[in-house]
Amino acid sequence: MKITGIYPHILDIPLPYPIKLSFGEMRSRRQMYVEVRTAEGISGIGEVWTNHPVFNAESKLILFEKCIIPLLKDREFETPQDAYAFIEKNLLETGAGRQWGALGHIMQAVSGIDIALWDIYSRLKGLPLCKAINASCSYRPIPAYASGLGPDHIEECVERALDRGYGKFKLKIGFSESKDLENLTLVRSLAKDRELYLDANQKFSGYKEAARRLEAYSKFGFKFVEEPVSCCDMKSMRLLRNDGYTVAAGENSYTKTEFSNMLWTDCIDILQPDVGKCGGITNMLRIAALAKSAGKSFAPHMFSSVIGQTASLHVLTAVGGLFMEVDANPNLALSSLASVAPFSFRDGCFYPDDCQGLGVTLDKDFASKYSVL
Ligand SMILES: [Mg+2]
Repeated sequence: MKITGIYPHILDIPLPYPIKLSFGEMRSRRQMYVEVRTAEGISGIGEVWTNHPVFNAESKLILFEKCIIPLLKDREFETPQDAYAFIEKNLLETGAGRQWGALGHIMQAVSGIDIALWDIYSRLKGLPLCKAINASCSYRPIPAYASGLGPDHIEECVERALDRGYGKFKLKIGFSESKDLENLTLVRSLAKDRELYLDANQKFSGYKEAARRLEAYSKFGFKFVEEPVSCCDMKSMRLLRNDGYTVAAGENSYTKTEFSNMLWTDCIDILQPDVGKCGGITNMLRIAALAKSAGKSFAPHMFSSVIGQTASLHVLTAVGGLFMEVDANPNLALSSLASVAPFSFRDGCFYPDDCQGLGVTLDKDFASKYSVL
């Protein structure tokens, strides 16, 4: 694969209502994807995480222009892993990445390049991406859970998810204790005895606050708590595990080393790398292997577009994992950005269809309507 061009695209997609999180608010969906073109005449696309803050995407344009494009344009690689090793050596481990102090920011951009290269690589081989990762993988249903619930619009989201066959739900917490309790009561009444998960988005200040809040919420019966404290606060996560909670984290972790450290400190049960943040498919496969070798669960985080969702589903098909996270709010980046996507959804599961590469064809009209470049 000889890279002849790298083209980042920014979309600003409207939302019917702002998405509120314990740390901030999204008033529209800022999505970024990157297109990589090759001398072989095949191009690929990849997701670059840009949801938050709102200037995230624009700041990445400088990164692409000054750093990524000069490093990779006109270079030739046999495999996506070869390209990743080159990037790791020249950008992440040394050079601009560390000096700049922008490791996570760079990892998000590199993720898009890596996914696009896997798209190209598998299409050159005439394979669906999952088969390019693991030729012997078999197609099977991938269970999904309805995510992004709360703090408002819960009733409509849960009812829509129930209609679509979801049997697992994740509620955002970390607002006031009374709001969290009100929402837990509502979700339990709507979802009945179906599986419930909680996501605090790192809100609680440390073990003491997290333990007190979770104790108050435990009567609602949740299966795991995600990012109860800062993802760097491994000691507090470990203490919560000692108290009997199942802890999930990973969406704000970058590099294999960060995931290794979480395993080494035994502070985590479920590893949740995001394919648009953690270094793309190449690094996600390494993290999934780490999880497997440590006897932990692997469950991709996803709150972006159909591009990242499809890449994650290919990885789950290729190497297995717990389930797929799906934003249960109205999300045009999932429902309308692609005219073709290779995983159909029914009864709370994704089912793989045959495709070439990633298998996502963008709806050009939709993409150009919301392009802000
Ligand atoms: Mg989360």
